[in-house]
Amino acid sequence: MSHTADFLGDVNRSFMKAARLTNHPKGLLEQIRMCNSVYAMEFPLVRDDGSIHVVQAFRAEHSHHKQPAKGGIRYAPTVSRDEVVALASLMSYKCAVVDVPFSGAKGGVKIDRKQFSPSELERITRRYTFELVRKNFMGPGVDVPAPDYGTGAQEMAWIFDTYNQLSDNPLDAAACVTGKPVGHGGVHGRREATGRGVFFGIREACSDKKAMKALGLEAGLEGKRVVVQGLGNVGFHAAYYLQGAGALIVGIAEMNGALVKEDGLNVREVGAWRQEHGAIEGFPEGRMTQPSEKALELDCDILLPAALEGQISGENAGRIKARIIAEAANGPTTSEADEILRKRNVLLLPDLYLNAGGVTVSYFEWLRNLSHVRFGRMSKRFESNTQQKMLSAIETATGKALSPEVLTTIGKGADEIDIVNSGLEETMVFAYNEIYDISKRLKTDLRTAAFVSAINKIAVLYNQMGIFP
Ligand code: NAD
Repeated sequence: MSHTADFLGDVNRSFMKAARLTNHPKGLLEQIRMCNSVYAMEFPLVRDDGSIHVVQAFRAEHSHHKQPAKGGIRYAPTVSRDEVVALASLMSYKCAVVDVPFSGAKGGVKIDRKQFSPSELERITRRYTFELVRKNFMGPGVDVPAPDYGTGAQEMAWIFDTYNQLSDNPLDAAACVTGKPVGHGGVHGRREATGRGVFFGIREACSDKKAMKALGLEAGLEGKRVVVQGLGNVGFHAAYYLQGAGALIVGIAEMNGALVKEDGLNVREVGAWRQEHGAIEGFPEGRMTQPSEKALELDCDILLPAALEGQISGENAGRIKARIIAEAANGPTTSEADEILRKRNVLLLPDLYLNAGGVTVSYFEWLRNLSHVRFGRMSKRFESNTQQKMLSAIETATGKALSPEVLTTIGKGADEIDIVNSGLEETMVFAYNEIYDISKRLKTDLRTAAFVSAINKIAVLYNQMGIFP
């Protein structure tokens, strides 16, 4: 069985385990689980040297219980039909867990982006977009892509531009894709949103004194030793915010090896080094160890896989020393590893909850695009004036002058970034407590609880639509 076929199997096994804890009819559960549509395509790329390369790509829309469908686009050599379906399925459940009104989708282009020039990547992205538009797999109310592994704001800008040229609805065209650069309708805070959401989720879990005691840990993030796998968008930002809250980043694993430093690496400096030199190798602090995957077995409190699926398997789960596994990536733990780790009393923070910050802020971007106004634009000055008046009233009533710091922090109206970040924090904290309560009530783990939460929410919608009276 291929690696990615296992991934789809793993998602389905988690679904079935949770489904047994609900009392929905079998047919309805099947409808929720199955993938509605997959568009598999092949198209030619004329390379810079004039040769022709055939590119294989996919888009899966797992469900249509809400519209649009939503999910990232991945550029990776591992992309396959099953991988895209597994990721699209997770998107449906993820959106339900954090109450984002979308159904799940995912796209994948089977390429190693390092093998292509920027202009080749642009041609691939534009042609892929053209294929999606032609088959009605894209549009603000139909299916809205976003960044995922191997893609970022640049690809989203090309997608938007291509869609815009083909669309006869220029007014709402910007809502066809999220994760765009801010100048093209992107929202402040989207780039770091998934990692920031991962941080909020870990912070919630670690604030639970009883749960931490059961793991032999103190509550809080201060001094927690973290190993991160994958210093990309999600891994970098999650590690950066964890470090900001007092955690020690004792290991960073990348493709060719891992950087280890027991008293903590500076994430921003390692990221800047990688940006400049193309790799973490040669960073002046800490020591490099190989092979990279051995870093997963380092002694630490929190292991943060933020690369690809299937990294923690039956083969290495017994050797993992971390007490908490924070699934920043999608599907990093196989179901076999999940069983082993739970028996070893390791706390797993599941992907379908933990990395949902990305789609949450994508939802905010989509709303911003449809309303054609930056968050805070209409209210910031009004809020600021009202708060300033309140602060002067306090000064008059008490006869004491407030410090300049209080006057600027409390007396300022909210910028877009403040609104986005507080909306993200509220979403992650609320959803954590929701799945935590389900896990206690059903005496089950957080992954199963998150699946139960998603299944119940989607089932209600199908029932209300009268499809399954
Ligand atoms: P990315 O391309 O920005 O970064 C991935 C990083 O992982 C790269 O630096 C790559 O070199 C590294 N990597 C790959 N294989 C590795 C290995 N075997 N060992 C160590 N490092 C390895 O991707 P990303 O957007 O950060 O996505 C990472 C994961 O998070 C994926 O599973 C993705 O589906 C998931 N995710 C991403 C988002 C998002 O908003 N980007 C949202 C939700 C979930």
